[in-house]
Amino acid sequence: MFKSFALFFILIGTGFNILAAGKITPRKVMKVHNSVLTVDTHVDTPMSMLEEDFDIGIKNSPPQSRVDFVRMKEGGLDAIFFAAFTGQRERTPENTQKAYEMANRMIDATFEACEKYNEMAEVALNSEDAKKLEKKGKRAIYIGMENGFPIGNDIEKVEEFYLRGIRYITLCHSSNNDICDSSTDKNGPEHNGLSNFGKDVVKEMNNLGMIIDVSHISDKSFYDVIELSKAPIIASHSSVRAIANHKRNLSDDMIKAVAKNGGVIQICLLDDYIKNPDTTSLYYKKREELSLIYDTKYDSMTDDEKKALRDEWRSLRVKYSKPKVTVADCVDHIDYVKNLVGIDYVGIGSDFDGGGGLDGVADVSEFPNITAEMLKRGYTREEIRKVWGENFFRVFKEVEKIAQPES
Ligand SMILES: [Zn+2]
Repeated sequence: MFKSFALFFILIGTGFNILAAGKITPRKVMKVHNSVLTVDTHVDTPMSMLEEDFDIGIKNSPPQSRVDFVRMKEGGLDAIFFAAFTGQRERTPENTQKAYEMANRMIDATFEACEKYNEMAEVALNSEDAKKLEKKGKRAIYIGMENGFPIGNDIEKVEEFYLRGIRYITLCHSSNNDICDSSTDKNGPEHNGLSNFGKDVVKEMNNLGMIIDVSHISDKSFYDVIELSKAPIIASHSSVRAIANHKRNLSDDMIKAVAKNGGVIQICLLDDYIKNPDTTSLYYKKREELSLIYDTKYDSMTDDEKKALRDEWRSLRVKYSKPKVTVADCVDHIDYVKNLVGIDYVGIGSDFDGGGGLDGVADVSEFPNITAEMLKRGYTREEIRKVWGENFFRVFKEVEKIAQPES
């Protein structure tokens, strides 16, 4: 505990003066932080879990990994969504089958890790589980699916994955799939939003009580989902487009639509989604090169090649001096949503181990720095409680409630 406090003091940066002035002490920050149920709705840690040399039950450090059970506890993080992520490839039956197998491997790895370290964490399936596990002093590990590619065009697979523990599906990733258009497909829209199959997927997810995640999907897909879904939706890891002009972020009009729908936008801690990047920097160019490889070739690589690529990705920040994006920059997004539609519609989805990580919040153990920044800006404990989990769990419960009459 002492170590994390020391770290906290070093990393709080500008907050140090306030701490020294006695207004907001680390003790007060931790008291508030530990008194609220906290959830991070998106990390890509299952990718690391498939690596032999990664052990989620011991304390690791960035950049090798930003999430493990030890640091979750240190950072007062009660619940998390592990994403079973598959990159989009050409939609052939073979590639779909590979994506299906990969998603299952990640689900298996999550269950195995939670069994191995059962004293620290358990797989969670329902909205109430986080609170129950918090009382037992354990982390709640929920599983989401990032990219509906493993479903292919087989509607039965939605329920199959629900039964395996998947509680949200990010409908697509960086390219279009059979469900909908992506916000970042190089060839532009293919279905003009949700496909007919995608509409069936949305209805099936509503019926099953699965949360629909609109992160990564195109603006037209987003509005199609909002119109069709009977249940509120989430953006598991997206930020504010008015601050960082990226297609992955939500416009003001979209944020208003999320609020009207009763959903929530979970601010993503990825540099470019928090601050407009310097596109002339070497860091940016190198990162773009690697992103392209991740998006187009990752799933067809051998395990050794995958590991080499991930190592290369992790060394980028050190090798090419990453520009600083801070906790304050991140909380600017929370402020923005609060001012636009109110405090009930915003939360946090870090995208750790998938590109997320900022100065002052480089891994899960540093989450209290976000709480410190909110306290510094005058947020009340109730507001902090909403941001850290109450908003998200409200949506989750509503999704479950809407599903019940169908089951
Ligand atoms: Zn993502």
